[in-house]
Amino acid sequence: MNHGLAIILSGPSGAGKSTLVHMVNQWIPNLQFSISCTTRQPRPGEKDGVDYHFTTIADFEAGTARGDFLEFANVHGNYYGTPKAPMLEAIRNDQIMMLDIDIQGARQIRRNLSGTPLEAAVEYVFIAPPSLKILEERLRKRGTETEEVILKRLKNAETEVQAWKEYSYLVLNDAAETAARKLQSIILSAKCRTNRTEWNPFG
Ligand code: ADP
Ligand code: 5GP
Repeated sequence: MNHGLAIILSGPSGAGKSTLVHMVNQWIPNLQFSISCTTRQPRPGEKDGVDYHFTTIADFEAGTARGDFLEFANVHGNYYGTPKAPMLEAIRNDQIMMLDIDIQGARQIRRNLSGTPLEAAVEYVFIAPPSLKILEERLRKRGTETEEVILKRLKNAETEVQAWKEYSYLVLNDAAETAARKLQSIILSAKCRTNRTEWNPFG
């Protein structure tokens, strides 16, 4: 029974991935969230084991050596990685797992799962801001990063946005409610695909 679904969300920092996922979480029951490991420092309000597993570089590298991660990448100067076990368990248990992963990580997953039975479990969604100018306004307004980090993220955004066609879906995050409804629709439609549903008309 491998009817689970993994939704990979990518998009530049500040595009609205967390915002949209939190909205959709109110409308789709029992969504699972992949909790990544990261070596970046927690932001005020972020909780270890909830937003991320915050780790040291040494611990992270030990995890990569053990093969704990489905993918990992250096993003904006810090390591981020997706623990393998929870994602595999979610797919085995017919659940819907949301993963917020940068474009390098999404590429690794696409490559690593290619030709395996898990390939069919994954959908790729790109979350885009209306423009890079609006992205900058949102990142600054969020106020969670230093000026130096904001500039690094904006610079990386110029490369990241060019990857949008690698994804099966694009959600343009102009009005948040509209964008969140689109994301909800993508998830629900993906779950209705015949390879992800069980039906026994005679049962
Ligand atoms: P990400 O998770 O992609 O880095 P966030 O969800 O943290 O992005 O969003 C970045 C900032 O933009 C946050 O302060 C959020 O409240 C704001 N934001 C998100 N979506 C919208 C939107 N549609 N309109 C205006 N502001 C938004
Ligand atoms: P933030 O520091 O703003 O939480 O995340 C920065 C970037 O790291 C975002 O683009 C986010 O998608 C990405 N990211 C978060 N977790 C992972 C992960 O496990 N793997 C990869 N490759 N990227 C991640």
